[in-house]
Amino acid sequence: MRSKFINIRKMKKVFCSLTLVTTMFINAQTQIIAHRGFWNTQPKTSENSIQSLENAQKLKIYGTEFDIHMTKDGKLVINHDEHHGKMEIAETDFSDLRKLKLSNGEKLPTLKDYLKQGKKDASVKLIIEIKPTKSKERENEIVTKVLKTVKDLGLDSQSDYISFSLNICKEIKKQNPSAKVQYLEGNLSPQQIKAEGLDGLDYHYSVFEKNPTWISEANSLGLITNSWTVNDIKIYEELKNQGINFITTNIPDQLKDK
Ligand code: MG
Repeated sequence: MRSKFINIRKMKKVFCSLTLVTTMFINAQTQIIAHRGFWNTQPKTSENSIQSLENAQKLKIYGTEFDIHMTKDGKLVINHDEHHGKMEIAETDFSDLRKLKLSNGEKLPTLKDYLKQGKKDASVKLIIEIKPTKSKERENEIVTKVLKTVKDLGLDSQSDYISFSLNICKEIKKQNPSAKVQYLEGNLSPQQIKAEGLDGLDYHYSVFEKNPTWISEANSLGLITNSWTVNDIKIYEELKNQGINFITTNIPDQLKDK
């Protein structure tokens, strides 16, 4: 009887050690996300272009990030800035915006075209940034349209969401509670992110430098940790040593095997 108990105790010990090792191993795996696709090639291509997405897919990294705006006539397009050339996207119709090509000769991508390319490689996650806009109503409309486009293409499980707008983050969770949403602004602690019902924090690396306990606190709360835009190997190593889950970078080719 006694030896049976000892065996169970031994097994428990082994199991606990294995769990600990597995947890440490998972935490140690910092994964790479290409910022606006992988555009920083030789020669460079346009940020947020279909080509930059294809390049990221070829790197076989965790994911690739891109930015969404809505045109005056309600089309979702991929672009970082509020302006495309001199045209303000929110104040310009899609047909006028499309007349101006990207610097690599591509047409300004729609969300649908971009996602169709993303769907070609299910192993690369799509990190969808929805840009803040002038009113909550417009932000909520964009969220509805983005979620519908992603769902219609069968990309729910391949997509994660990020935004600087707390309203957008919360609206995504309201409309699709199973969507994974990370907040970008950097002004909420891990506890506050948890209390808001979000899944993680994706902050500028300087925020983590100022708050050196946040990555471990977030990890222990079960939150996703991510940092932008890390283009310095030393900063990457520091964040990795703190157990960060993801790094968003303009040099995914250089960091992916570090
Ligand atoms: Mg972005």
